[in-house]
Amino acid sequence: MKFVSTRGGEKVTGAQAVVTGLSANGGLYVPEKFPQVTAAEMEAMLEMGYAERAAKIIKKYLDEYDSAELLSACESAYSKFEKSDPAPLVRIDDGVYMLELWHGPTCAFKDVALTLLPYLLRKGCDLCGIKEEILVLVATSGDTGKAALEGFKDADGVKITVFYPSDGVSKMQKLQMCTQDGKNVNVVAVKGNFDDCQTAVKEIFASETCVNELKRKNIVLSSANSINFGRLVPQIAYYFSAYCDLVSSEQIEMGEEVDFTVPTGNFGNVLAAYYAKKMGLPVRRLHCASNENKIIADFLSTGVYDTRREFYKTTAPSMDILVSSNLERLLFEVSGRNAKLTAQRMAQLKDNGVYEITAEELEKIRETFDGGFADEETSVEAMYGVFEDAGYTMDPHTGCAMKVAIDWFEKHKKDETKMVIVSTANPYKFPQDVLYAVTGNDVKDSFKGIKRLHAATAMAVPKCLSGLRDKPLRFTEVVDRKKLFEEILAFVEK
Ligand SMILES: *Cc1c(COP(=O)(O)O)cnc(C)c1O
Repeated sequence: MKFVSTRGGEKVTGAQAVVTGLSANGGLYVPEKFPQVTAAEMEAMLEMGYAERAAKIIKKYLDEYDSAELLSACESAYSKFEKSDPAPLVRIDDGVYMLELWHGPTCAFKDVALTLLPYLLRKGCDLCGIKEEILVLVATSGDTGKAALEGFKDADGVKITVFYPSDGVSKMQKLQMCTQDGKNVNVVAVKGNFDDCQTAVKEIFASETCVNELKRKNIVLSSANSINFGRLVPQIAYYFSAYCDLVSSEQIEMGEEVDFTVPTGNFGNVLAAYYAKKMGLPVRRLHCASNENKIIADFLSTGVYDTRREFYKTTAPSMDILVSSNLERLLFEVSGRNAKLTAQRMAQLKDNGVYEITAEELEKIRETFDGGFADEETSVEAMYGVFEDAGYTMDPHTGCAMKVAIDWFEKHKKDETKMVIVSTANPYKFPQDVLYAVTGNDVKDSFKGIKRLHAATAMAVPKCLSGLRDKPLRFTEVVDRKKLFEEILAFVEK
């Protein structure tokens, strides 16, 4: 399988796509065509455990990776999850299920991809004959950073630097990152919001001066952000796995279409669902859920992507995003894989903060996608309602998705299609906000929030969060976004 860039240029192998992360012209790598999963393969997958299902799906894209080795890498990555299944499905009502993706080492769905990415990257380097040291750069709105740090800490031949917006992540997220151990890690707060942070990191990738200066030091750059195809591909697997689980537990017949509602920020998670559909998974609709930063919902109703708007800080910080990078991959598909047009639109976005797609393209998108959003009040209401009715506790990101799903049910009362809501974080990652949603009580301290939330819900508290209290802060630096490269040089020269 070869990969092409959404903005045109040379084809590359899967290994090259994973290692470079982003194409030289700024485009994102996409598979040349979508591999198909046959009915027989679906049947066979019913009998498999999660790691084996994941290895099968990933192998279809990264076909130069050795099958047995890929399987053993998946087994080792997913053994780091608390449960034997890293993507369990929980029924919360008739025809409504939660796909819980947060049982990994950092309690967010990013773990599904980032526990495996170090292998995909290291092997990718071998396949490409790269001997240099790898420097992984990450811009994070909160959860990617920690998951990447855990994934890459103390890995051989790799260093990692995570940049997060100084005033854009939750207390718990910040603590998780700033207490990170490992010899090869660096964590830096950047003044501004996530978009500022992501733009500054992208500029380093795009700067020949920066890239060459690192090359002289025998270092090549790679990215662990969701623009990297190596992040996307492990995420496709859990849509297949969830579907198999629905069939195995006799909730649906094989071949029956289902819907997914996905809390959406950088558009990576929901794009993986779209890729699964393209591979033949019986998916009817994909509901994108936003918080008050509802740029995706607006885009899906108007066809205009307009970032010239106020940016809100919400209790679902991993969705506080105005530039959803992975949307570029969807634009590329619905434009008929028109790289020139995609590049033009991305240039318009950069220069003017806005672009528009055609009515036909919008219609094509809306055949599969719709969008909704929850503001702070309505997401709390959804979280409270489900806690009261079903005794189920969810985090604020999943709360937004819940609200969007509820809106859909209200509007389509006769709809019998099964709905899977993708649950993206452990509620204890946002203890104060979740406590407020389920009890109406406010507490000032995160650890007190954990204690009270435990008292209210009896859910098990993950050690990786409760243990943070006693860990020393290692990283406290805040830098201007113009100073990122200096920060990187200082770190690699250490
Ligand atoms: C990253 C994240 C999201 C958004 O996912 P995208 O792939 O960026 O759309 C939603 N919820 C949580 C908890 C996250 O960490």
